[in-house]
Amino acid sequence: MFDNLSLKLEKAFQTLKGQGSITEINVASTVKEIRKALIDADVNFKVAKEVTDEIKEKALGQDVLTAISPGQLLIKITNDELTTLMGGQSEDIRIEGSPAIILIAGLQGSGKTTFSGKLANYLKKQGRQVLLTACDIYRPAAIDQLKVLGEQVGVEVYAEPENKDAVKIAKAAIEHAKKNNHRVVIVDTAGRLAVDEEMMNEIARLKDALKPSETLFVVDSMTGQDAVNTAKAFNDRLDFNGVVLTKLDGDSRGGAALSIRRVVEKPIKFISTGEKMEAIDRFYPDRMASRILG
Ligand code: GDP
Repeated sequence: MFDNLSLKLEKAFQTLKGQGSITEINVASTVKEIRKALIDADVNFKVAKEVTDEIKEKALGQDVLTAISPGQLLIKITNDELTTLMGGQSEDIRIEGSPAIILIAGLQGSGKTTFSGKLANYLKKQGRQVLLTACDIYRPAAIDQLKVLGEQVGVEVYAEPENKDAVKIAKAAIEHAKKNNHRVVIVDTAGRLAVDEEMMNEIARLKDALKPSETLFVVDSMTGQDAVNTAKAFNDRLDFNGVVLTKLDGDSRGGAALSIRRVVEKPIKFISTGEKMEAIDRFYPDRMASRILG
């Protein structure tokens, strides 16, 4: 997943091999390598600096008589810092209300529709009655795509192909859910290729009208620093509850996973690692840090 970053970090720690203790000099050169590795992985420059300053300070503040080697110590400190950077604790989605409404937002191609299907499958497996709702009023193909995914996971899809009012469609879906005992309504929305006013207005209107218990922002992790900028633009407007990082199975450099939480101050809640409906996982910062450090 983050092979390049892992490799570079491993090399950074090797600079401490054979060193008997932590010194100002050997820590400085290791930390410089760590910072370079993070920046190469597309981590926002400011974030990379903050994290490595913290690692340095903690390493120099350690008791010299510690039983572990300087290399091991730096790995442990880095592991803790990366975990903190990614949010520390894992956060679950909020499913509240009858029905509970989950709004899915993001750019076109980020993986929203695929994720909507996966989330429906995930929640269904927890024993919940789920309804998927197609609110992409611009791309008829998106409705068909959601219907195919719904069929695949055995979840009903509500759509009104002739209706061009996303709020009305979503409200009708909620009425349908109430009548048919669906406990969770997942609303897949339209995306654009770039952030634009019209899309933001529409998604903001949906959020105001539906009052979802959870608004998830879906972003393609392969887009690196852009992923973070897009997250910021959506959050400024939508004040979403959580982030979904998709395409982590590709050769993502990891920057988005590492910087989004710090920049946007919202937790990453799920990761998506493939096109199959089962390729969805809750996000655990500590597990991700361990994975990065190999
Ligand atoms: P939307 O426009 O945001 O609804 O995006 P889609 O759900 O249509 O996804 C865009 C493309 O990315 C599709 O070809 C999906 O199969 C693919 N895709 C979505 N999530 C993932 C993922 O986690 N990994 C990979 N490799 N492909 C994905």
